[in-house]
Formats: sequence, structure tokens, C-alpha cells
Amino acid sequence: CLIFLGNVVRDIKVLVYLIYSMSEFLFSPLNNFFFLQLVSYAPFTLFPTPVPKAVFHQALAVQTFYNTLVDKISQDSEFLQEALASTIAVDDFTARLFKIHQMILKEGKSQDIVLGLNRSDYMLDQGGDGTSSLKQIEINTIAASFGGLSSRTPDVHRLVLTVAGRKEESQQILDNNPAAGLARGIAKAWELYGAAVVMFLVEESQRNIFDHRFVENELWKRGMRTIRKRFDHVSKTGFLDKEKRLFVDGQEVAVVYFRNGYMPQNYISEQAWDARLLMERSLAVKCPDINTHLAGTKKVQQVLAKPGVLERFLPDHPEAVQQIRATFAGLYTLDMGAEGDKNIAMALATPDRFVLKPQREGGGNNIYGTEICQVLEAVKESSERTAYILMDKIQPTPQQNYLLRRDAPLKISDCLSELGVFGTYVRQGTHMVMNECVGHLLRTKSSEHQDGGVAAGVAVLDNPLLI
Ligand code: ADP
Ligand code: MG
Ligand code: MG
Repeated sequence: CLIFLGNVVRDIKVLVYLIYSMSEFLFSPLNNFFFLQLVSYAPFTLFPTPVPKAVFHQALAVQTFYNTLVDKISQDSEFLQEALASTIAVDDFTARLFKIHQMILKEGKSQDIVLGLNRSDYMLDQGGDGTSSLKQIEINTIAASFGGLSSRTPDVHRLVLTVAGRKEESQQILDNNPAAGLARGIAKAWELYGAAVVMFLVEESQRNIFDHRFVENELWKRGMRTIRKRFDHVSKTGFLDKEKRLFVDGQEVAVVYFRNGYMPQNYISEQAWDARLLMERSLAVKCPDINTHLAGTKKVQQVLAKPGVLERFLPDHPEAVQQIRATFAGLYTLDMGAEGDKNIAMALATPDRFVLKPQREGGGNNIYGTEICQVLEAVKESSERTAYILMDKIQPTPQQNYLLRRDAPLKISDCLSELGVFGTYVRQGTHMVMNECVGHLLRTKSSEHQDGGVAAGVAVLDNPLLI
């Protein structure tokens, strides 16, 4: 009994000491200053946003079909070549990715395990008549983020609503755990590969590290080891052995999970490109592999909207074709020729109906309004126009909310939301081992901004409140 009491007293002492030292750290103005320079809370809406139940469930239901579609596209090199031919002629970044794809095709793929972690994003096209139609904005097949943080946001809104005296609504906030679902996919691929580490391929400076950490924690819980490396680590210490097994810093890598490498600025040197090629050549499971990366380009999205293309990939699944096609907005080619000319004339006549998109990721790259006319006037006579695709602009009804972010004044804003749905799949050879919808993400931005995600500093994290 005395020993027990002694332990309790010791534990309390430790606890008091910890609280004391934490408060020293957290509350000293100097520390606070440095701490806040390094770490900031993820921005979020004060309240969840109402989302119609039917469209929410429609987005979840179509996700496994999207997983299958992306996977099938990635296996059809002829299609990728045809679809991207006009783009790679003028877009250097896509052309470099495509070159890696061709090199791997020539050498032969060394790994038949495929891991896909993607996020399909939607907005609601809402007419004045109260109808809501779910329209896909894009699908991200590389470095799709916020699966980690969106696993935590439900509790934030539950708390806010409880404090605000809206207990009933707080109980309606949906559970959401994409981190666990993404980790399940990584774990399955890792298991099929055989024991080795999972490598997160990360950026130079990590602005979104806590989002990764939730996925890492799920892997640690399973006893899996993860390492975080940059392109330069891979180029300095990476090599393939005789069986093409990838070693980085002396450790064998089972899965490379790309949280970087999706935009030209990520490849700061030729060595970074060499490192990407080394990883693609290796036996490690790549998430995504180069084919799947290319399957997520905006040009492929536009080609998929052409008649008969979905049927090519899903010939025996008319219900999948129908459900996927129902989410397509109008997508238009700007390729050279009569059709492209007609689409350019249409955009020049009514630019506010459209969004002009280059082959870029990460938010803030699209072109809107009168700027569409400026850009199209400058490129319309040359093949440069084929770097872009044209898309119908989705028009959701704005909803009022407060956007909470550090350094921004607190004011009520008219907001637009974008719903993301996470998909996880693993294929080994011809066998689909796993194909799941693993959660959702709601991001909300002020309607003043046409473009930009959370990482671009425009949107904030949110939760749907189903109505
Ligand atoms: P990125 O890969 O850079 O995220 P997106 O296609 O998702 O590119 O576009 C970035 C943002 O631009 C979206 O998050 C959305 O806010 C806005 N946007 C893109 N396409 C449309 C569209 N068709 N209609 C309305 N807004 C759009
Ligand atoms: Mg994207
Ligand atoms: Mg996007």
C-alpha cells in the first residue's frame, strides 16, 4: 500500500513538473514568439457548412468507381500517350514526367503492386431553383493532402457547437478518419512487399507536416517504421541493388509515399529528377507510380469527358460509367483544329462561364474572367494553347461563415465549399486486393477568391453538416 501511495505521489510530482515546465515554455512571451513563428493552427471555419445529404452520399458512392478508373487509365500507356500528346509538346513539366513513363515502359516495370491514394474534389452547381448537382473539380492522384487533419476536425466543430449551445447539431457531425484509411492502403502494400520501411518523400520545408503525422501515427500503431526523406536525400544516399530493391540511408524501402513532386518547383535540380527516376525504376511500391501520376492530369480529365472514353475503361460496368459521368462538368479541348477554335471562341465570348486550367497542381494556377481573354488572345494562334484545358465554372450558392486563421481579421464572409472524397486501392498484378472510399474533406473559402486551397492560404478546413 505504501509503495503504491509512493508511486502515486511520484507520478503527481512528475505531472506537476511537466505542467510547470510546459507552462514555462508556452507562456513565456519570448518562447511564445518563436513558437508561433514555427507552428500555427490549421485554419478552419467557426461552424460546419450545410451540405445536402443526397449529393454527399453520391460523392462517397462513386469513389470506388473513380479508383478503378484511375487504375485502369494508369495501365493503358497507349491512351496516356494519345491523350497527352498535344500537352507534352508544349508543357515541359508534363513532358518530363512523360519521359520517365516512357523509360519505364521500355525497361519494363519491376513492381506489380500498385498503391493508389487519391482525392476526388467536387463543388455543387446550384441553380436558383434550389437544386444541387455534384460536379467534379479534379482528381488528385499525387500528394492528396488533408486526410490527416480532416480526421481531427469533427471534434473541433462538435466542441464549438456544444459551447454555442447547439448540442443537437454537434451530434450530427459525422465521424471521419481518412488517416486510418490511407494508412490501411499503405500497410497493405507494405505487407505484400515484405518487411522494410515506408518512406514519405517530403518537401524542403514542411508546411503541412502535422497532416502527414496522423497517417504516420497510424502506421506506427501497426508497428511499421516510417522515414521522411527529401529528393536530395534520395539522390545522395539512394541506390538500387541487383534485384532493384531501393535503399535510402542504408534502409530498404517498401513503399515510397510521395507528398512532394507534383509541381515543377519541387524538382529544384537535375538530381531531383534523377531521384524520381531511380524510385520509379525500383522495386519499391510507388504511391503514385508515374503512370498513375499522369492519369491525374487535367488533360486526361478533359479527354475522359469525350464520348465513349469512359466505356473504353469500364466496358462491363455501365452503372459505374453512368455514376462517374453524372459528376462531369463541361470540359473542352483547346487542341489545334476546328473543335479547339470553336471552344476558344466560346470562352472569349463568355469568359465568366469558364475556368482556364494549365497542367498544374497545388492551387492558384487557374485563370478566370477577363484574364481568360488576355491569355487566350495571346496563345490562340499557336500550339501553346494546348497546355490548357477549358472547364465550365461551377456555381455554388454562397453560405455565410467565419474563417478562422492566424493574422486574419475575424469577419463574417460569403463562402464557397469544396468537398473532397478520399479513395484507397491496392492492386497486385491483375488482382484488386483492396478498393475503398476512406473518408471526406470539406474546404471552404471566401467567395472573393476564385481559386486556391488550404495550402495556398485561401481555403480553410470545414465539416459538412448533412441536411
Ligand atoms: P489544383 O490542382 O491546383 O488544386 P483545381 O482544379 O482543384 O486545381 O483548381 C483549384 C481551385 O480552383 C479549386 O479548389 C476551386 O476552388 C477552383 N476551381 C477549379 N475548377 C473550378 C470550376 N470548374 N469551377 C469553379 N471553381 C473551380
Ligand atoms: Mg490538384
Ligand atoms: Mg484542387
